[in-house]
Amino acid sequence: MKKRFSSIVIVLGLWGCSLPDAIWIQPNPYAPGDDTERIGTDTDTSLCLPCDTDCSCDTHCPFCPCAGTDSAHTSTDSGPPAQEGPRNLILFIGDGMGYAHVEAAGCRAHGESGGLAFEQFSSHASMMTQSSNNPVTDSAAGGTAIATGRKVNNGVIAMAIPGSGNELPTIADYYRSIGRSIGIVSTAHMTSATPAAFVGHAPLRTEFTTIARSCFETGLPDILMGGGGRGIVIEDAQAAGYRVVTGRDELASVNTAGAARWLGHFGEDNMPYELDGIGDLPHLYEMTAQSIAFLSSDPDGFFLMVEGGRIDHASHLNDTARMIEEMLAFELAVETATNASLDPDETLILVTADHECGGLQVIKCNDAGLLPDVQWTTSVHTGVPVPVYAQGPFADRFSGTIDNTRIYQILTGG
Ligand SMILES: [Zn+2]
Repeated sequence: MKKRFSSIVIVLGLWGCSLPDAIWIQPNPYAPGDDTERIGTDTDTSLCLPCDTDCSCDTHCPFCPCAGTDSAHTSTDSGPPAQEGPRNLILFIGDGMGYAHVEAAGCRAHGESGGLAFEQFSSHASMMTQSSNNPVTDSAAGGTAIATGRKVNNGVIAMAIPGSGNELPTIADYYRSIGRSIGIVSTAHMTSATPAAFVGHAPLRTEFTTIARSCFETGLPDILMGGGGRGIVIEDAQAAGYRVVTGRDELASVNTAGAARWLGHFGEDNMPYELDGIGDLPHLYEMTAQSIAFLSSDPDGFFLMVEGGRIDHASHLNDTARMIEEMLAFELAVETATNASLDPDETLILVTADHECGGLQVIKCNDAGLLPDVQWTTSVHTGVPVPVYAQGPFADRFSGTIDNTRIYQILTGG
């Protein structure tokens, strides 16, 4: 902690905000369970968040050193990124996936002896997930932290809350600004919190119509696939330039060359659990494969976010069998990306989670093909750190313990 603040002192003179002296209030981010707001003065730096976790100059901590304001990612505030990051970036988010979820799926696939393939990636880190107002994040704040590099309150989709309420630029915006194509894929409905955090904005995650509108007006990913409905209206997508597919066969026969934007509108809500059979809808690996086929035609590179959205839902239900099937479908999607014809020196693949769900523990691995013995300790999210697995350029920057805001910074060249 001491080292962290010493680095703040160095940048204070450069980046300190010129805001009025004031008494300010903020939740204590370093004391899990302490939800009471703490009051500081403009001379008390003890509660400053480090610049790499929050920098809302105009909000709760006006004297704290900041790299910018709510538009911190524009050139006038923080300057251009030092580097442009990897040419291709594929970010896999297992919603609700903790270490034990990975372990349990490895048990089911390989028994005692083996884990999942992405556990063999070259770099690993452990990631903290707390939100701006709670030691236990939800997917809105967790997704926003990953997508924008900024802490927000639970329930907020890529807006500066607490703060000015402005829309926060996302990593998808950043990659598009340097000429790359954008893809967003999920097994949850497309306006759900995680995909929404990358291409939508709303003060509340349940404002699906607002999220869909911002997605089709400004987010505008080149590929958007997942469960439909919940604010997604096919005619609105078509008016925004999307060609729409609604089933597996249609997706497989799409001619990706030179097409406009694509919307994969698969059902009217979250896609079904794998264990229940998904009918004529595509599996996550199929959506991933077609997305890569489409996006990789961009010579400038691409950003693709793929969410295993229903890992979390099964975990809320403490449903081990469905959770593991979702995990294995998620792993297959990762394998599809690692086996794709992409230059490994130019493609960073990240596998991580927005938070853990269920307080899962593996008690005992059984033989391959059998469910492990597990213990669920809650039906809600927890604040335990989640894993990050990285392979490709920039992978070595993911090590030790990192904050969930760090991903954005690394991937935008920070
Ligand atoms: Zn959840």
